Amino acid sequence: MRAMVVERLGPPDVMELREVPRPEPGPGEVRLKVEAVGINFADVLAVAGEYLTRTRVPYTPGMEFAGVVDAVGEGVQGVEVGTRVASLGGRGGLAEYALSPAAALIPVPQGLSGAQAAAFPVSYFTAYHGLKTLGRGEAGEWVLVQAAAGALGTASIQLAKAMGLHVVAMASTEEKLGLARDLGADVTLLQDDPDRVKKVREAAGGKGVPLILEVVGGARFQESLEMAANLGRIIVIGNASREPANLRPVELMKRNVTVTGLWLSSLMPDAELTRQAAQALTPLVASGQVTPQIGPTYGLAESARAFQDILDRKTTGKVIIEP
Ligand code: NDP
Repeated sequence: MRAMVVERLGPPDVMELREVPRPEPGPGEVRLKVEAVGINFADVLAVAGEYLTRTRVPYTPGMEFAGVVDAVGEGVQGVEVGTRVASLGGRGGLAEYALSPAAALIPVPQGLSGAQAAAFPVSYFTAYHGLKTLGRGEAGEWVLVQAAAGALGTASIQLAKAMGLHVVAMASTEEKLGLARDLGADVTLLQDDPDRVKKVREAAGGKGVPLILEVVGGARFQESLEMAANLGRIIVIGNASREPANLRPVELMKRNVTVTGLWLSSLMPDAELTRQAAQALTPLVASGQVTPQIGPTYGLAESARAFQDILDRKTTGKVIIEP
């Protein structure tokens, strides 16, 4: 079968299209015929060797994908060959066939295409945990969504609106802000607006925003502290700037701010939290209240270009690769 293989870490073009043996599912695993792979910023960081955990090479990227169950390993129960599922926490998605632990499979809500199913798990579960589990967002509150036209950003806007929150969306271009408005953002601001701190505070009645989903990091983290309301909650979800941030804990005192980290990989094994998230998200997807935003779609051989386009901030929604 064809697969993208990384033998040394670096920029996206270290990935090579190769002919490799089809993987065999081990105990507790299933094999999917991959229909679509959702590309996350984390995949780009992992290939670069800059992710939260060490990337071991050689490997095939692709942690979020959807497809049809093609074979099941020993001890797997309740998963039928021929069913369409999404996998969150599988491995090697950028290939014609990929393995996933049976425990990492997520049923695909009816009516979703393969691409939408692949675009769903990471962004929406992260948005839910950011807004609800950790952010404790309540209807009527304001939330700041950064990188608002991206995969997580579009999911966060839709979910925040479904929860009754007001949204300030920030992104780097007017076109991206247009998408944020289409999805329901109440106030939109260019990421480089020179008055952005003042404007965010003003949007929330001059008091600052009670909830911030922080994904850019670097020098921007300091600004988030300035945008936060008294008793505000900043949920640190990413560092797309790839720059170090300076956090001086005493600065949190000024507005009684709480800073909380969120990593989906270490939340997913918590069965109760995952059940709560799925219970909240499934009806919203089924009713069309939230719709995974499919970004540009590429073939397997164009994987490096897809990764580079994410780094170059050219994409909106979830970038999809179809093997
Ligand atoms: P996106 O589709 O949002 O793409 C990344 C976006 O980051 C870009 O479109 C760009 O939007 C923004 N960005 C801001 N500054 C930079 C920069 N210097 N270089 C490149 N991009 C920049 O990706 P994802 O939805 O996959 O991820 C968004 C963020 O959320 C990432 O930081 C990611 O690591 C994090 N994340 C974390 C998870 C977790 O479990 N903690 C789970 C999912 C995502 P713009 O041009 O508008 O600024």
